[in-house]
Amino acid sequence: MEGSSLKESVAQELQEKIASYQIQQFRKDLLHWYDTEGRVLPWRQKPTPYKVWVSEIMLQQTRVDTVIPYFQRFMSQFPTMEALAEAPEEQVLKAWEGLGYYSRARHLHHAVKEVVAEYGSQVPDDPVKLGELPGIGPYTRGAILSMAYQQPTPAVDGNVLRVFTRLFNYAEDIEKTKTKKEIEWVVAHCIDPVRPGAFNQAIMDLGAMVCTPKNPACRNCPVQQHCLGREAGQAERLPVKIKKIRVRHETYFVPVIRTATHVLLHQRPASGLLAKMWEFPMFLDPDGEDEDSLQLSQWVDKQFAIQLLYLHEVMKLRHQFSHLEWNVHVYQCRWDEEMDVEKQWSDEIKGSYHFIPIDQLAQLPLPVVHQKITEWMKSEFE
Ligand code: SF4
Repeated sequence: MEGSSLKESVAQELQEKIASYQIQQFRKDLLHWYDTEGRVLPWRQKPTPYKVWVSEIMLQQTRVDTVIPYFQRFMSQFPTMEALAEAPEEQVLKAWEGLGYYSRARHLHHAVKEVVAEYGSQVPDDPVKLGELPGIGPYTRGAILSMAYQQPTPAVDGNVLRVFTRLFNYAEDIEKTKTKKEIEWVVAHCIDPVRPGAFNQAIMDLGAMVCTPKNPACRNCPVQQHCLGREAGQAERLPVKIKKIRVRHETYFVPVIRTATHVLLHQRPASGLLAKMWEFPMFLDPDGEDEDSLQLSQWVDKQFAIQLLYLHEVMKLRHQFSHLEWNVHVYQCRWDEEMDVEKQWSDEIKGSYHFIPIDQLAQLPLPVVHQKITEWMKSEFE
């Protein structure tokens, strides 16, 4: 059964959840509603594996209303798999024109040719063989097996995930593979063994007509008395989708420029990240990746009128903020400490860079990365 690869403890927990659920009555209520209120769609009338297949491929990323006329034209132009297999690709693409995502049509065409040539025009009812055909993923495979062959195989897409997270008040992040696997496992255990195709289509219709992404119509829902999400008042908050934070990466070269008693520090601006904190000079690597000590010495020369005699990377540090990661390369430097370089500094540099007595560093607020550099510097010269 789909989803049987779950961890034993997770499977047991879900099993307990399902055991307390009135599955028989749920199926009965759902299928009764589907038989009376379900959508009448051309591929549902006398469904064949070929019809289900074509419709499911067309329905990927496309609305049902848009698909209906395309499906009807396509089936009258290519009424059998042999007709489709024999057609030139341009003709197939022409029939698909306007539906978009043309790789779907190409995959369908190739796969149908394979079925005609390899399987005597019989769409395989074996899940493995079916899943090996071009363009057939787990959802399409489940739809064909359940709707055309009455195999109790779930067909889980975003709509089905939404409906089931609400039915079982399942508050885990739906974007995680683990969550999807667990929901698939639940669907596989709820599916009606006698009418699996109708069950899958009923859930799809429920998701499209009643349990919609926003404002689910719980009052009109045929399975409201089975819905744990509604009972907990959580229906509209489900499913949970935790937005991934896009982390920006910045690479800095940090020269430790010091004399026997002082070290060069910079005070950050009064607003923004780490406002007004003190730090060692930080040169943002424009390439973002490559270590380049030449660029660093040129920057130090331009910025502070200091010609470095020697620089050597002593450590790499990493610090993660919520949206930002710093990769910091720290350099030990030698220079002519007798030179009074500050005289040559612009007002802007003088305003924010200062040679600070090393014994006063402990009194200054320093970001974590720079505290680590301070520790290294002190240990190095002790
Ligand atoms: Fe969806 Fe509401 Fe029905 Fe629950 S009761 S399945 S949330 S429409």
